Amino acid sequence: MSLREYLKKRIPSRIRDTRHDLREIGEFGLIDRIRNWMVASDSSLIQGIGDDVAVIEIDGKALLVTTDILIEGIHFDRSWIDPYRLGKKALVVNLSDIAAMGGTPKYFLISLGLPKNLPFSFFSLFYRGLKEGAKRFQVYLIGGDTSLSQKIVINICLLGKGKKGDLLYRRGAKVGNDLFVSGTLGDAALGLKILQNEGPAGRPKRLIEKHLSPYPRIELGQVIARHHLANAMIDISDGLLIDTNHLLEESGVGARIWEDRIPLSKSYRKWIRSYSKDPYQTAFTGGEDYELLFTAPSEKREKISALASSSKIPITWIGKILPRKEGFQIIRRDGKEYSPNRLGFEHFK
Ligand code: ADP
Ligand code: MG
Repeated sequence: MSLREYLKKRIPSRIRDTRHDLREIGEFGLIDRIRNWMVASDSSLIQGIGDDVAVIEIDGKALLVTTDILIEGIHFDRSWIDPYRLGKKALVVNLSDIAAMGGTPKYFLISLGLPKNLPFSFFSLFYRGLKEGAKRFQVYLIGGDTSLSQKIVINICLLGKGKKGDLLYRRGAKVGNDLFVSGTLGDAALGLKILQNEGPAGRPKRLIEKHLSPYPRIELGQVIARHHLANAMIDISDGLLIDTNHLLEESGVGARIWEDRIPLSKSYRKWIRSYSKDPYQTAFTGGEDYELLFTAPSEKREKISALASSSKIPITWIGKILPRKEGFQIIRRDGKEYSPNRLGFEHFK
């Protein structure tokens, strides 16, 4: 029997069927299916698939586990990120997920797929960046795996800890909560556009750095959790709208966001004009800001504003949590309401 005949016999027709592929369901449709197929129920499992990190209870303490992958040509390009920044960023994207729970990162493993012709200097610089990030956030490398690959593939699995009663999940938002976001939005996405286009002369360093060297809001996340200032939290990695939508779906609620409250940096306001007529589009749908989005009852407003002053990190009230039937609404500057149909970046779509 030829291999083709054998495969035809052994592989069910629905798998051979190439008319249906991942474009139809997208990254999040795929994750939903995986979640339904692999139902996990175990008395120690506090949070499985569906949040920024998984949470497991061990002897009354919460162990946090998260993993993220960076692939050359998809997440980064060697022509615009140097190995030092890449090493640091690979760690930061994972640290940000632990920040979103209000946890403390502790240990990590790193697995690398590497092409044969990669200069050794690339490698030593990459690890220097990784070491710098690890030192800053007091996390320790404890293992990993290494393999040949056509393109660079970087996967980090980060472990952390947290207090069970303090941790914040995507699923905790309550109707009537205010919706807050830290920092400014769209800077990293605009920085990437500028890098990709070789940008105009006098490139804005701040925007480019926000893309190349993001900062995880670990300390801020911890204070929000420790002082019980929020009901739900997520980090913004894929874009404000898509990540807000994740939080709404997990909490079973709707929301309204006021466009003119979206925090935009001075640099963003100046440079976005060269790229888009609508200054809000990139801030709404661009990814990689790694800011925190959280919901809180209105009586916490004063404490949250005091936290913004003491931490010197802007925290902006951008919206309200509504009943689910109200959907996800954006209120434009002119007062008109619309429901966003394209939320942001999604793999395979
Ligand atoms: P984040 O953007 O915070 O990293 P994702 O949107 O990537 O989160 O993932 C959402 C949830 O789906 C997380 O709980 C993550 O662990 C889980 N997840 C993502 N990909 C897979 C996969 N291939 N198999 C199982 N779980 C996955
Ligand atoms: Mg996340």
